[in-house]
Amino acid sequence: MDVDLLIIGQGIAGTFLSLEARRAGLSYIVLDDARPSSASRVASGLINPVTGKRVVTTWMAPELLAHARVAYADILGRSYIRETEMVSFFPGPDARVVFMERVAASPFLALPSDERDWSPFFNYSFGYGIIRPCALVDLSSLLDDVRADLRMRGLLLEAPFTHETLEPTGVRYGDIRARHLVFCDGMTGTSASWFGILPFSPSKGEALLLEIPDLPGEAVFKMGQNLVPLGGGRFWAGASYEWNYPDALPTAAFRTRTEKALREWLRVPFDVVDHVASIRPTTVEQKPFVGLHPVHPQIGILGGMGTKGCSLAPFFARQLVDHLTQGSPILGAADVGRYARMLSR
Ligand SMILES: Cc1cc2nc3c(=O)[nH]c(=O)nc-3n(C[C@H](O)[C@H](O)[C@H](O)COP(=O)(O)OP(=O)(O)OC[C@H]3O[C@@H](n4cnc5c(N)ncnc54)[C@H](O)[C@@H]3O)c2cc1C
Repeated sequence: MDVDLLIIGQGIAGTFLSLEARRAGLSYIVLDDARPSSASRVASGLINPVTGKRVVTTWMAPELLAHARVAYADILGRSYIRETEMVSFFPGPDARVVFMERVAASPFLALPSDERDWSPFFNYSFGYGIIRPCALVDLSSLLDDVRADLRMRGLLLEAPFTHETLEPTGVRYGDIRARHLVFCDGMTGTSASWFGILPFSPSKGEALLLEIPDLPGEAVFKMGQNLVPLGGGRFWAGASYEWNYPDALPTAAFRTRTEKALREWLRVPFDVVDHVASIRPTTVEQKPFVGLHPVHPQIGILGGMGTKGCSLAPFFARQLVDHLTQGSPILGAADVGRYARMLSR
């Protein structure tokens, strides 16, 4: 079989690359081995334009949010995105001061009319600020639905990728011949022989899935950790950030620590129904890796999505497909060509 694009991985990056390839009229095949704990399967699906203790606007937040609103709004005839806001409780007086200093200048920050209005549900002593708009993506339905559609159209190979099968010249993989192969395999190291030298800085994240029937699901709540509504009284609580870890498995220490924090914070009962963990494809510069290998331009990458796959993947999948079809440039800060010297060694 001859195709324009062989896509390795169907996390959020590979999913959007396949959607963009389809939009552009490219032929493609997706190869994915359906790991249940890939980062995209574990993520909460939040797009938050403001982060950190200094409540600063994240890189390209307005553009990425605007693109995501459209990109997720009509996929296979339905929307996978909804707008929400974050109720960000101040953990102490310093956080309150920082927020108050920034609120007038930031289009994403606001103050509530009554700071006590969440007190039936949460213990908090220093008030809260509002971050809006945020967006929530229904990642698990999106990945399932696109996968089912790919399977139905015979465009999905459900198998592990093996380097031994790949003949990179002219890209042959088994009986597939492709103009380009693009790795969208997250932090698994399968693309390592091509892109492993790039400055990745993988980080492990854990989260608990909760049932909190008495808590309204109209906002995302934050106090040290995020409490993200999933619908039907279910919430996602997390996440941790670990740069030194022996494996990608959930740990008892995270569960104990998080349950304790939740008991102190929440005034309504909750049950833990699941505990998940994965490795984020974080990068040292906190910017993604997008584009074609400088020495082997038939091989590409859409990776390094870090903590922001939900907003980066749709935007940069579009850029990569436009680059392949029209030769348009990829944004310099994300273009893997910025590491041409390193990749040419
Ligand atoms: C706890 C946690 C919470 C997060 N929360 C958010 C959030 O709220 N918002 C946000 O924007 N981001 C969040 N992230 C980050 C986000 O999950 C990642 O940026 C994103 O999922 C990366 O997507 P990806 O497609 O690049 O990789 P992945 O999701 O890892 O997908 C890779 C795919 O490739 C397949 N694959 C890998 N190796 C092979 C192989 N050898 N053969 C075949 N197939 C293979 C896997 O099965 C998988 O389907 C979170 C991450 C974690 C860990």
